[in-house]
Amino acid sequence: QQEEWKKLVNESTKTADDHHVELAANIGNPGDIEGVLNNGGEAVGLYRTEFLYMGRDKLPTEDEQFEAYKAVLEKMEGKPVVIRTLDIGGDKELPYLDLPKEMNPFLGFRAIRLCLEQQDIFRTQLRALLRASSYGQLKVMFPMIATLNEFREAKGILLEEKEKLVSEGTSVSDNIEIGMMVEIPSTAVLADRFAKEVDFFSIGTNDLIQYTMAADRMNERVSYLYQPYNPSILRLINNVITAAHKEGKWAGMCGEMAGDETAIPLLLALGLDEFSMSATSILPARSQLAKLSKEELSKHKEAFLNLDTVDEVIDYVKTHLS
Ligand code: PEP
Ligand code: MG
Repeated sequence: QQEEWKKLVNESTKTADDHHVELAANIGNPGDIEGVLNNGGEAVGLYRTEFLYMGRDKLPTEDEQFEAYKAVLEKMEGKPVVIRTLDIGGDKELPYLDLPKEMNPFLGFRAIRLCLEQQDIFRTQLRALLRASSYGQLKVMFPMIATLNEFREAKGILLEEKEKLVSEGTSVSDNIEIGMMVEIPSTAVLADRFAKEVDFFSIGTNDLIQYTMAADRMNERVSYLYQPYNPSILRLINNVITAAHKEGKWAGMCGEMAGDETAIPLLLALGLDEFSMSATSILPARSQLAKLSKEELSKHKEAFLNLDTVDEVIDYVKTHLS
């Protein structure tokens, strides 16, 4: 199997019926790119920038961030790179921000909520991203968006910083896509409206499942409720992909589910355009996709979206989709 996978490193990802999907990688820092390329990654689908802010005692400067983003974009040599703005809070704390303790950190002041309030932090990151944009194919993604107003505000701030840089004579790419994570159920439900304003969606199933099932992703006692194949989750995913395509936008997924062998046939059937996963999952996924027919699988969409339970979905994948 290892040998079979190795042969696929320089191949593009094709299904058995010749449809292309993009296999991208999730990374945490520029040093991860070597692994992405060695494993045949076609893109970076999620760069979690919070690691730049962690394990230190003060905020990273604009220049420090610029160097990191530039390094990733350059090493990817023009391949797409989705960089997510700061997603701090929940399980990821920054002691030096000195934020008050909260009863429910996962439901609290985190990610885009913090960035829209402490705009100096957000604007510094956006300037670093914009300056780096001329070194590759940058796509900026906002985490934990719950409302259209949040997306509009975040995008507005990005465009303001872009204007400023351009008027200062700094070169900024004109092709930066601006998208968002779909990881709060409100956005999956309202995806048709969001789709008119975003350039792309990336479904963050790690959080989407936790918030849809009201089951803390870190809590063992309720892990039985953490169900990627629950029909409710599949319907939300379907809603997002359908909404994106209706507006001519692309939809990816950067939660763990995107690299899962059982999920892949379901996601292909639903029309997911980009699968972002840990680098080591890319070649196994490419080999699996090469054996699946998108057209055939998509005929099963209505059937599996109308199942009742997780067990039925898993059985359905085994009998009809593999
Ligand atoms: C997600 O929520 O699915 C995701 C990819 O983001 P993170 O795991 O960093 O919360
Ligand atoms: Mg998340």
